[in-house]
Amino acid sequence: MNFWQVIQRLRPYVKPNNKLVALTLLLTLIGSLAAQVNPVVLRYTVDSVQTMLNEGKGLKDGISLLFMISAILFGKEIINSLIQFGQKFYGEKIRINVSSELAQNAIQRILSYRLAFFTDNENQTGKLQTRIDRGVESLTKLIQNIFIDIFPLFANAIVALIFMFSANVYVGLVAVTILPVYFWISIVQANKLKGVRINLRRQREQKNSGLVNIIDAIVVIKSFVREQYEEIKQYGLQQSLVRLQLKTRQSNFLFDGLKSFVEQIGVVLIIILTIYLVLDQKMSIGAIMFHIMLFSNVSAPIKQLHRIYDEFNEALVYSEGFFQVLDAEDEKELSGHYHPENIAGDFVVRNVNFTYPNGMKALHDISMVIRKNKTTALVGVSGAGKSTLVQLLTKFYLPDSGEILLDGVNIQDYDTDVLRSDIGMVLQKNHIFKGTIEENIRYGEMKATFEEVEEAAKKAYLHDQIMELPKKYESDAHTLSGGQQQRIAIARLFLKNPPIIILDEPTASLDVIATEQIRISLDAIKANRTVIVISHSLSQIIDSDEIYVLQKGRLAEHGTHETLYADEGVYREIFDASARSMNLEKIVRTMESQQTPVKEKSSPEQISDEDF
Ligand code: ADP
Repeated sequence: MNFWQVIQRLRPYVKPNNKLVALTLLLTLIGSLAAQVNPVVLRYTVDSVQTMLNEGKGLKDGISLLFMISAILFGKEIINSLIQFGQKFYGEKIRINVSSELAQNAIQRILSYRLAFFTDNENQTGKLQTRIDRGVESLTKLIQNIFIDIFPLFANAIVALIFMFSANVYVGLVAVTILPVYFWISIVQANKLKGVRINLRRQREQKNSGLVNIIDAIVVIKSFVREQYEEIKQYGLQQSLVRLQLKTRQSNFLFDGLKSFVEQIGVVLIIILTIYLVLDQKMSIGAIMFHIMLFSNVSAPIKQLHRIYDEFNEALVYSEGFFQVLDAEDEKELSGHYHPENIAGDFVVRNVNFTYPNGMKALHDISMVIRKNKTTALVGVSGAGKSTLVQLLTKFYLPDSGEILLDGVNIQDYDTDVLRSDIGMVLQKNHIFKGTIEENIRYGEMKATFEEVEEAAKKAYLHDQIMELPKKYESDAHTLSGGQQQRIAIARLFLKNPPIIILDEPTASLDVIATEQIRISLDAIKANRTVIVISHSLSQIIDSDEIYVLQKGRLAEHGTHETLYADEGVYREIFDASARSMNLEKIVRTMESQQTPVKEKSSPEQISDEDF
């Protein structure tokens, strides 16, 4: 992106602030006129004092002049302070407004994108966050540069140049001739340091995150006795940072010195020319001060030029990545227009093939029927494609070919929000937001009353445990155990009350007691709904009305537990392996030898850690 393209993109964000922009520009203009008061007043003072001295007048006659000049200079300083305050404040206000608009727009856009956008390697959480933060930061710095640095400084310079030209064309020309040299040095400086600042910041971040990583991994580092290795790694980072910092400083000092030298040449030339003109009686002696002060107004912005130029370049680099995120039109979630009154929950999957955006073909020619009010299990070893299929049923991804019908209508024709409102999911790990238990449960139905939240928690067998906490429903949800957090997800499901439920290994990461409790909570919600279960736990599968067995993205077989077991295929293999891994034989033998009947557990209240 070039500079003008970036400015064009920023225009809609600046537009709501048009009045502020006009006010800032007006203040800028007044400020640039006020900046010339000092040279004008000093010229007048020097000339008047000179005349008075020539006329033999002393302090008594000059006192009124002294008062007048003091009043003007003080008055001008007061006005100038007010103008600068207004200018900086309104400039900053524009910057803050634009920054918040940009950030909000990015969030709004990102929320509208489909899942594939987020799983893309380029958009992983950290990277996306960095792209947006950097983009917003450098674009707002650009706005700040424009309104707080460039406009005021350059307005000053231009007005000062006009004053110089109107005083004397040759003096104006000397000032103008110095400028290109100055510009050139600044551009060379900026180009030499191009990217160095970005690099510097990257290295600093790397160094900082290095420390965070060390703290995170301290147990592993210590247990493998890798302290020295980590130290050397950090030392390497430190050294390259030192080299880069020194290089930057070195070239900055060099160029700044060069610019000061050129500026001084300008000052000397102007002094020589003005003295010549004074001696030639073309000007009064006050012109010397006048011209020097005006010239410093002209050269002031150029001193900042390399920094501004550098920040412009940085803004161009980062804004590209930022606007790419904003412009990802084809990543927008697709939605149909079908809004059924009620969804029964009959899925038909027909010859579905699916490939992930990274080229991984995860499903091959899958066909199946998932019936309403029945429980359908998806079985297969890890990586078989079970979760992928679920992602297709919820329209998180679209099939490459084939179709998925829900109640006879292709899910692509459904309004995506309507479809998802009718599907409830409990996953292996469900996100618990930062906040209270109540807020977290209410995520299932934002309009739910407290009583409804409580009712859902009761149905998920979570209420009693919540009541034992000191702050009850106001407790921080993150302090709950894994099993309790899963039940928050189930309580959300009760609140949402969808006709279709997908359970994707909801107990895989839990211990046996929590698994049993969750199973009971889930049994309560399964009735009269379409239930799709993915589970490694045999107990949750064998009761299913229909079992589909996936193998390497293909459908291997389907049927009920009994028929599949009898078929001695993939299902039988998985089943036998599970039984072996649980050492069922020994468990049965132990139970028989002890002659202890297996206790029937019917509700989670009866199961507690003390049982073990
Ligand atoms: P299962 O749920 O049966 O364990 P998955 O559906 O998660 O299996 O995965 C099926 C295949 O798709 C695996 O080979 C997995 O590596 C791949 N896969 C899963 N998610 C993604 C993704 N976001 N991008 C690319 N490949 C993926």
